Amino acid sequence: MMKFPTLAFREWTGFFTKELVREPGRFGLGQIPTSHAPDTIAHAVCGFCSTGCNLKIHLRNGKPVNVSADTDYPVNLGMACPKGWEAVTPLAAPDRALFPLVRKSRCDEATRITWDEAANIFCDRLKDVQARHGAEAVAFISTGQICTEEMAMLGAFAKFGMGVIHGDGNTRQCMATSVAAYKQSFGFDAPPFTYADFEESDVLVFVGANPCIAHPIMWQRVLRNQRNPEIIVIDPRKTETAMAATLHIPLAPKSDLALLYGVAHILVKNDWLDHEFLKANANGFDEFADFLQPYTIERTAEATVLSENVIQQIAAAIKVGKRVSFWWTMGVNQGHEATRTAQAIINLALMGGHIGKPGTGANSITGQCNAMGSRLFSNTTNLLGGHDFTNSVHREKVARATGIPVERIPDRPSWAYDQIIDGIDTGKIKGLWIIATNPAHSWIHQGRLKNLLGKLEFLVVQDMYHSTETAQHADLILPASGWGEKEGTFINSERRIGLVRPIAKPAGESKPDFFIFKLLAEKWGCGNLFQAWSSPEAVFQILKRCSAGQPCDITGIRDFEMMEENGGVQWPCLESLKIPIQERRLFVDGKFYTKDHRAIFLFDSPQPMAETPDGDYPLLLLTGRGSSAQWHTETRTSKSAILRKLHPADLWLEIHPHDAKFLGISPSDWLQVQSRRGQVTARARISATTQPGQVFLPMHHRDVNTLTHATFDPHSRQPSYKACAVRVVK
Ligand code: SF4
Repeated sequence: MMKFPTLAFREWTGFFTKELVREPGRFGLGQIPTSHAPDTIAHAVCGFCSTGCNLKIHLRNGKPVNVSADTDYPVNLGMACPKGWEAVTPLAAPDRALFPLVRKSRCDEATRITWDEAANIFCDRLKDVQARHGAEAVAFISTGQICTEEMAMLGAFAKFGMGVIHGDGNTRQCMATSVAAYKQSFGFDAPPFTYADFEESDVLVFVGANPCIAHPIMWQRVLRNQRNPEIIVIDPRKTETAMAATLHIPLAPKSDLALLYGVAHILVKNDWLDHEFLKANANGFDEFADFLQPYTIERTAEATVLSENVIQQIAAAIKVGKRVSFWWTMGVNQGHEATRTAQAIINLALMGGHIGKPGTGANSITGQCNAMGSRLFSNTTNLLGGHDFTNSVHREKVARATGIPVERIPDRPSWAYDQIIDGIDTGKIKGLWIIATNPAHSWIHQGRLKNLLGKLEFLVVQDMYHSTETAQHADLILPASGWGEKEGTFINSERRIGLVRPIAKPAGESKPDFFIFKLLAEKWGCGNLFQAWSSPEAVFQILKRCSAGQPCDITGIRDFEMMEENGGVQWPCLESLKIPIQERRLFVDGKFYTKDHRAIFLFDSPQPMAETPDGDYPLLLLTGRGSSAQWHTETRTSKSAILRKLHPADLWLEIHPHDAKFLGISPSDWLQVQSRRGQVTARARISATTQPGQVFLPMHHRDVNTLTHATFDPHSRQPSYKACAVRVVK
């Protein structure tokens, strides 16, 4: 059970009438102080991370006055992290975009216009770009933060209505690697686990994951494990999770692929394998075993700078006979050879038959609240429902399910995010529509991106806030309602589809993203295509039809109420399944989604990083989440005075005592961190959490991505945020 200090709730102008005080011991985990008994309670899945906690929003006279965690929801079991407790506060921020805004030129102040004028400008300017440069000259960048039905509406309007080909999501920055790895190895983007696996494992191996900070409620589920589990954390940095582990493996940065191959080599050498499972359910193991021959323990120790003993310990811990689960997130996904690293984890799970059973799995933990919705239903990389744009049978099927004429469905997928950015540079993309994301802060090598935004003929930003780093570059700002002001569904990391309900009216003249897309479709002149797409729930019914027969089949989910009644529903949920099962893992029968239903071993030799420390830039910069109170570019979490108090006010740089001494740095000194691309100012935090030669910055500060080096995993095209060369000066 998590404990929080006494917290004062912010006044929410227009909704709050007085300040309430949450007192320890009498308010928390679903209990409501009687002196502030609310009139009603609304339920909604949290709009920050992919854990998908259900929150109770306490309403008085129809206005939200408090938040508590749902004790009955199978995800969070009465727990919430600080962001969840403060879920409502960002709705009242003074920089909410309350009206559509336009700039005559990029140097001008944005001025207020009506929705009618905004929709006309959107259509006139983007149609003009398409008329002069072709339909493909307009692209969109979307998000994992809006509801599934909104993503689907956006992808359908843009691609089937506007004739856009290229649209990607910010999920490219966090989850594309897992998608690529699962698709290639399992035949579909299918994270196999359920959260109960945290509690049912004998051994949990976290690779490049820090759930204590990034997914604190998942970590609480680990702490509920009654099996006295071994917890192995593979991470160059001694993170909060590494400190709590039974074994921390402080390998050299980006040597994880070499380590995983070295461990696999030991499993083969000792015959610590599940032969029965491999024979029945996997292809390519013999080739993988041959490939592993050179990855001896001596070579692995040299590549990872670990002792042979510790490598041996990992292999012994995960051998067959125990319930072993592997968990990874951004430390793997944001690497230069990320997909093969994720697949090296998958390979270990297959070798021991650690999949499809309680407490097992090769499990990617997703980032954003609806990254999983984006992965399947955003109509960007995949055609709706995890289909393939290039497959004519899939296009026909989706046309039937959606009522969209098949000739309007593109026969090729979108460029990836980085290719869209490059397209601006080469003059192929002239108009860009950015929805609920902040690339001028979050994109790798941010300086280049900011320059390229200036090359666009027309930039539209649709967001809750007019003040984001990206909105400041926009010609047109469309004010979007936020979480809590609209309805729809999110899909969490364990494939559970949960409900988002409106608990407040939209701020100012903002509109839910869904209705912005509908309005724009009408103005564009293609509204007739989407007559059946009349509401989020109507779109959910359309998406159900798209999903039929796919691994993510959700035809058995009757309606939104059914999700509410059952604490969310995991996919797949077939029509034949009359009563949803609350906890489900995939591959229980050993059958995967490939043509022959067998998983595939995939592997490549490790490659060096693109930029390593040298005489000019002698330190390696690692980046990651700073605290559980911060979310991504902080457009929302920075609006909460409580959340701001839960992390240092200044940007801090973690530096090892040896390096600090060598550079003459004292605690809290102001430092400049410089890379070949930019520099940031940060205070020194001298700590042995980083190893000598490495420094760490939290990723949330607006300037950190001036430093990062734009390299990409070749399979997933996910940016490699985690490592670049820097120097530090006082
Ligand atoms: Fe929200 Fe994630 Fe925190 Fe749960 S763990 S309350 S989903 S931010």
